Amino acid sequence: MIIGQNFRCGFYDIAPAERMDAIRRAGFDAVMFWWGDEFDSTDGNKHMRMRLAIKNGLQVNTLHFPSTCADKLWRKELCEGYADEMIDALYDCAKYGAENLVVHTTRKLITPPYNEDGLNAMGRAVTEAEKLGVNIALENTRFPAYNAYLYDNIRSPRLTLCYDTGHEHCYTKDKNILDLFGDKLSTTHIHDNDGTSDQHHLIGEGNIDFAPILDKLKKLGVKYYNLESYCDEKSIYYGKCSLSRFLALSYGTITGLLTDSDRVFSLRG
Ligand SMILES: [Zn+2]
Repeated sequence: MIIGQNFRCGFYDIAPAERMDAIRRAGFDAVMFWWGDEFDSTDGNKHMRMRLAIKNGLQVNTLHFPSTCADKLWRKELCEGYADEMIDALYDCAKYGAENLVVHTTRKLITPPYNEDGLNAMGRAVTEAEKLGVNIALENTRFPAYNAYLYDNIRSPRLTLCYDTGHEHCYTKDKNILDLFGDKLSTTHIHDNDGTSDQHHLIGEGNIDFAPILDKLKKLGVKYYNLESYCDEKSIYYGKCSLSRFLALSYGTITGLLTDSDRVFSLRG
């Protein structure tokens, strides 16, 4: 398994090159990027970030397509342009060997009903993904019915799932995302919250019961465990912990749990 850290995790006063170096030194195999320009002022240009990852020997298996305009997919006059932007990002994935482009199917609560225009636009992007050998990994957010609509109508091994532990816990507690779409799983976002909102905390800072989730992920055979926690104002660690300490906690909590569940697995025989 490959353990990855979201590059954007707080500590924005520290230069990107130094943050990348700290991620490698914490023990991570991989780093995950937001594949847009929205945070360039603190994080630097996306291609520059990619070069830093390569220089540090960090894999990049999962890029995040900007979710800030996800509603465009369901707007007749905007969805084809949106698909073009997705396709550009798919070409970047292929160029850099990143297997998964993570895409949101809805934008917060600003979300028109799903429809055939959006379906056709996504279908065109999936056809490109197939040619390039890259996945469009739909992330579970507030409304899994949108994901189901796309999965039901576009049958492709390249239309996959990015399972997000925090979103399931705070948005769709009554649904089991891995039971619904686990057969499509290709990558993950792992973070914690207390169930009231999408806090993107470190494992253990909220109240998600991770052990059974990690058991399920192992059974499904997913390779990529990507930590998506932030040291921001909502975190108990904010202002109280260094970048290297935060990354050590991020890495240590997931590897500790994965090792524990390995032990349980081998005891069960
Ligand atoms: Zn996520």
